[in-house]
Amino acid sequence: MKRIGIIICHRYHTCAAGKCLRAMRNREGGFSIYKDEEIELVGITTCGGCPGGNVEYAPAEMKKNGAEIIHLATGLMVGYPPCPRLEEFRKFIPAKYGMQVVIGTHPIPKSYYETHSQLGTWKSEIWGERIKAVITDEETRIAYN
Ligand code: SF4
Repeated sequence: MKRIGIIICHRYHTCAAGKCLRAMRNREGGFSIYKDEEIELVGITTCGGCPGGNVEYAPAEMKKNGAEIIHLATGLMVGYPPCPRLEEFRKFIPAKYGMQVVIGTHPIPKSYYETHSQLGTWKSEIWGERIKAVITDEETRIAYN
């Protein structure tokens, strides 16, 4: 059993987490790494708004609930512009709390994929690495649109 927490971009703070929860259930996108494992969501919150002050504290509460892994939600990558602090969050959480960080939750929706492809947002090695699990395929991107 892996227990996980999710941190979303505060720009989407009214989101009902439908896509993240669907992807968790279907083991899609960032959750495809748990194909043969049981997982439990033990916490979900936002970064607290730029510059992401809640990332300093929220993992502690999730850890008390047994979380070993924090997923930084796909919204951090697909927002306009993508979160400029993604890298800091990715480094801070393991350093401070000894927890693993996975970048991405649900598959990238088709509309975001198309716009960012046009903008060339993800045309770099580091972005290629970040979106690897959530880029999925056309059919899945349509399903998450
Ligand atoms: S862009 Fe980054 S720091 Fe700003 S609200 Fe979104 S996740 Fe938080």
